[in-house]
Amino acid sequence: MHILGIDIGGTKTSVCIGTESGQLVLERRMTTRPEEGPDKVLERMMVLAREVMAQSGLSDVGAVGIAAPGPVDVKRGAMLAPPNMPGWDFVPVVSYFTEAFHRPVFMNNDANACALAEYHFGRGRGVANLVYLTHSTGMGGGVIVNGRLVQGATDMAGEVGHFVLDPQGPPCSCGLRGCFEVYCGGRSVSLRLQQKIAAEGIATALTAKAGGRLAAIDFKLFVEAAREQDPFAVREWQAYVERLAQGIGIVIMVLNPDMVVLGTIACQTGDFLMVPLKACLRRFAWGAALDACRIETSALSANIGDLGAIAVAAEGLKAG
Ligand SMILES: [Zn+2]
Repeated sequence: MHILGIDIGGTKTSVCIGTESGQLVLERRMTTRPEEGPDKVLERMMVLAREVMAQSGLSDVGAVGIAAPGPVDVKRGAMLAPPNMPGWDFVPVVSYFTEAFHRPVFMNNDANACALAEYHFGRGRGVANLVYLTHSTGMGGGVIVNGRLVQGATDMAGEVGHFVLDPQGPPCSCGLRGCFEVYCGGRSVSLRLQQKIAAEGIATALTAKAGGRLAAIDFKLFVEAAREQDPFAVREWQAYVERLAQGIGIVIMVLNPDMVVLGTIACQTGDFLMVPLKACLRRFAWGAALDACRIETSALSANIGDLGAIAVAAEGLKAG
């Protein structure tokens, strides 16, 4: 069976065709431009979806899967005011695409979609208790327990990015302080390094790497400087790894998962992150829980958005 997948993002949206076993046939992207409003943007998505189907030689698909930025209301099939899509206050995407395609349409938030992609098609295939951490510019998560995605009372289960690691910590865009995302999301880490260097006049190789423009310091340069043993970057890197271990340690102690899969940053950084992270986790979780838990980087990284949308539909069809 072929599935149409729509991975909606605040900047880019991707439309793809894949099979229920996770083979991607075709993918195309468009700029979302959320400021044009839901009506216009959904219509452009529809046009692109029809083009993708025609290009794939398909006149029909078995189901449609949608991954959308949270928060979402899964029962009502609607997007609920994602922070980077102002004006999208209650957008019933499921009914929109059901009317268009007359096929079952399933939707979930993008982090849950990634967890489902790992569970159906990735390293976590068939792993009963699995946690996926998006770990890129922000920090999000999806939780699978006993082979089922955990939604929670209001579809917020797995929002690991905003549990508080230190209530006296830096403010988070969500309104709380010291969230996991503030310490470990790529965007806020880069911003904090820039501010620290400026405020404390720190001499670091990062400044030269960024061509003297502090605003150009990003996570990639941070890793590069730490690898090259720049003293400031090394200190910050150790603090980063410790916060990451603290957050993942909580997840492991709460859920006792068989596997934790880490997304983008961990995939790009590899052993430079994973080796010290695993060592540091011993300070934040019990040995018996850690010994039973594989900590992996995602093998789907490049396509996980598309596969997530496909997996949302595959899971929906399975659940009937
Ligand atoms: Zn927060």
